[in-house]
Amino acid sequence: MEIMGLRIPTIISDNVAVRCDGCLGIIEGTPWRISILDTVAIEKPPSWAESAAINPGPFQFHADPAHVRAWMAGRGHLLCRRSQIRELMRPVVIPGEPPRLGLCDGLHRDDHEFVPA
Ligand SMILES: [Zn+2]
Ligand SMILES: [Zn+2]
Repeated sequence: MEIMGLRIPTIISDNVAVRCDGCLGIIEGTPWRISILDTVAIEKPPSWAESAAINPGPFQFHADPAHVRAWMAGRGHLLCRRSQIRELMRPVVIPGEPPRLGLCDGLHRDDHEFVPA
């Protein structure tokens, strides 16, 4: 599978019990898989961004955005209000102390509005 020039490895593990990364419960049926793309910096990436290892996933959830939000909140990530939770999310480094990651689907052209997930 290829999206916007990026190869996304497809993992097939339908015979194995899959647990939700949000609530840790077993997922019946097809999990909702979300992958995180490479970091996009708003300006210059702080050194933290280079050292922070981002697990690109895919992460697997129940088909309910609340479970994805719970996972984001548990990791301290913010969610862009102008985006929706999709299969591919783009991380944006938000400068601060400490720096945080905001996740956005990257499909809007105006400024991000990051809020707690
Ligand atoms: Zn769940
Ligand atoms: Zn955004």
